[in-house]
Amino acid sequence: MIYLDNAATTKVRKEVVEAMMPYIESNYGNPSSVYRIGRENKEAIEVARDKVAEILNAKASEIYFTSCGTEADNWAIKGIAEAYKKKGNHIITSKIEHHAVLDACKYLEKNGYEVTYVDVDEDGVVKLDELKKAIKDTTTLITIMYANNEVGTVQPISEIADIAMENGIKFHTDAVQAVGHLKIDVVEQKIDALSISAHKFNGPKGVGVLYLKRGIGISKYLHGGAQERNKRAGTENVAYIVGLAKALELAEKEREEEYEKISNLRDYFIKSIEEKIDHVKLNGHREKRLPGNVNFSFRFIEGESILLMLDMEDIAASSGSACASGSLDPSHVLLSLGLNHETAHGSIRFSLGRFSTKEEVDKVLEVLPKIIERLRGMSPLYDNYLQEEK
Ligand code: PLP
Repeated sequence: MIYLDNAATTKVRKEVVEAMMPYIESNYGNPSSVYRIGRENKEAIEVARDKVAEILNAKASEIYFTSCGTEADNWAIKGIAEAYKKKGNHIITSKIEHHAVLDACKYLEKNGYEVTYVDVDEDGVVKLDELKKAIKDTTTLITIMYANNEVGTVQPISEIADIAMENGIKFHTDAVQAVGHLKIDVVEQKIDALSISAHKFNGPKGVGVLYLKRGIGISKYLHGGAQERNKRAGTENVAYIVGLAKALELAEKEREEEYEKISNLRDYFIKSIEEKIDHVKLNGHREKRLPGNVNFSFRFIEGESILLMLDMEDIAASSGSACASGSLDPSHVLLSLGLNHETAHGSIRFSLGRFSTKEEVDKVLEVLPKIIERLRGMSPLYDNYLQEEK
């Protein structure tokens, strides 16, 4: 199969599976136990923590393992909001965040907080003037994603962090789509909190990280045992934590080389679609975009129909964020970029990853124009357009 849905999830690397296997097959000790196989597992978790910290330029004591990116987002946002409640109850985010952030904010709104959802421009870049204007005396947190999962736009993170810092506001970024693909340095970029998910960089699903800068005293997330320095109870998922660190270590080692390879393939893919198919619109910023993201609107037709026909050719892509598919509503991200409902409905996201090849892209470029032509041949919207053109 041709798998072009790496923003939804990625294939776990062989080296990662190998690193995890001992902790699934034989090293079964509870990390909280005092005997050898327990202590060894505790040690494995701390080695993983050190690795993650080093890659982000954080301290090991600032790294908390979570069950996924969604948990890291929820913990950061609700935790920081609560910790600074005495100072104020206002949070700023953007209109194009992942639902893990948007729904955490909506939950807070129902519980006495006020949230401002800042607009983005037509490329999906957060409007910094609006962000600045939204700041109040009561603002305690700005949470803006590092890079968007649907259209791939990378935000001006350092500028946003500067704005937050100058105003004494904490800054969290959902970096789930960025980590493993872009260079991140939490000190240089002045990031207070950051969310990670292993399955977006060829690690296992169901494990993530919350980086939380020292001194931000957020309360315990899960109550029970004393794991994760008494902040998140529950026996640690040792194998998955080891897998996350291994995947991140490999991704970081090969990051620049992979960025070059994948972004070149992305640019070739984008250019070829624009050459071969009429009435298309690239969504997201042309340059400031994730290396693997190719998101197009194909006018006059439905993204879902394109997906089904691609599936018949054994090609996997997506018509929006994986979490949003299953709903017939157009993507909130595309609407926020100013697309009308019809154009938003005709959108497809191809996301390339480390295993993607030019042969695969060429195969898509061979079948996609035929699929679009066939669907437009059945489309009353296209028919109307042709009549009007006459
Ligand atoms: N944030 C972004 C930007 C994402 O793309 C995703 C996953 O699609 C998440 C958060 C949620 O991560 P997880 O699947 O690990 O809960």
